[in-house]
Amino acid sequence: MTEGVALFGATGSIGESTLSVIAAHPERFHLEVVSAHRSIDKLIGIIERFAPKHVILTDQSKADEFMEKLPKHFNGSLAFGEHSLTEAASATDVDVVMAAIVGGAGLVSTYAAVSKGKRVCLANKEALVMGGDLMMAEAQKQGAVLLPIDSEHNAMFQCLPESYVVGQPIAGLKQLVLTCSGGPFREWTPEAMSQATPEQAVAHPNWSMGQKISVDSATLMNKGLELIEATYLFGVSEQAIEVVIHPESTVHSLVEFVDGSMLAQLGSPDMRIPIAHALGFPERLDLNVERLSLTKLANLHFEAVNHQAFPALALARQASADGGDRPIILNAANEIAVQAFLKERIRFTEITELVSDCLNQIDRQPISSIEDVLSVDTMSRQIADQWILERA
Ligand code: NAD
Ligand code: MG
Repeated sequence: MTEGVALFGATGSIGESTLSVIAAHPERFHLEVVSAHRSIDKLIGIIERFAPKHVILTDQSKADEFMEKLPKHFNGSLAFGEHSLTEAASATDVDVVMAAIVGGAGLVSTYAAVSKGKRVCLANKEALVMGGDLMMAEAQKQGAVLLPIDSEHNAMFQCLPESYVVGQPIAGLKQLVLTCSGGPFREWTPEAMSQATPEQAVAHPNWSMGQKISVDSATLMNKGLELIEATYLFGVSEQAIEVVIHPESTVHSLVEFVDGSMLAQLGSPDMRIPIAHALGFPERLDLNVERLSLTKLANLHFEAVNHQAFPALALARQASADGGDRPIILNAANEIAVQAFLKERIRFTEITELVSDCLNQIDRQPISSIEDVLSVDTMSRQIADQWILERA
């Protein structure tokens, strides 16, 4: 019997890497469910290659076009709309859910998978940033196993004993060291960054990723979101996490213990490595990826973050320290700002300005349910949209 994988966000960058790992291990996995939002041609390609049992198109407005292109021989089931993800997450034939949707759009389906006690491979960091407290409590209650896909968090997880359960305190921990490539603008001045184009921002020096995370990597908001993600996954406060610039993206992160030992995980910058680790855990899956040559690695560099040039990280750290609704606002405002920057409606440096202004403008709201999370998210997006209108 092979394990049934539900791949939410199959047409994205993480989706593609996941499909590549599944294709390399047909003895271990089959594709039970796939979802895509509106990339119909890619989705059709996946259907032809993998014959998934259940296919979801979340953007209903594309349904007619999809039906016209659907191969006649497809004999699985179809569903449309976001609510279909929630249903699919609880299907009994789904053993593992790969949460690879980008942004807050993945929150409800990720939470549904956790509520059903599934094994959840978590790429969708925004879901955890928004609903971390609720998600971790629910995972514990339902016995869901969370496995980090983000390369840094997967690296830290690999440095911990096999018996470690995500969310629990780490025995003997001194601190977590989160590495950061510095992104494409690592050596740019703020003046130059204010003129940066979307093409320059998405051209990451080491990783090939979706547009949103690529822009986040350029502002360093990605590292801010990852800092918050790490507090939930490893049961620590933001104070126990140090961020270090490491331009080569070879040491994917480290764990430092009280006795002075530091453990690290190294590898090529290829997301198939953390994906295969999480899908196969606790077994190791054979993978045909570029191997590191230690002799060629002679020089690895580490340096401090330039907080003046990259204010996003400090904003995220403060949001994490303040807790409650702050990470939700940070994430929502950032998503709106990144989309506006990609459409050339605001400047690159205005992304963090907008996030900071939204955090300052919005009064604290108590958060005790996913509905509360969604309501703060919606309100923050409206305020961010307004900010952009006033600037334009
Ligand atoms: P991407 O933009 O390449 O793909 C996003 C996927 O989500 C697509 O399949 C798309 O159809 C789907 N999607 C988009 N909007 C949707 C909506 N409103 N409703 C439902 N589905 C929707 O993104 P990506 O780079 O693969 O990133 C996915 C997630 O993984 C993000 O949270 C990102 O931060 C995280 N992540 C990515 C990488 C990477 O290397 N790409 C590394 C670490 C973490
Ligand atoms: Mg990462």
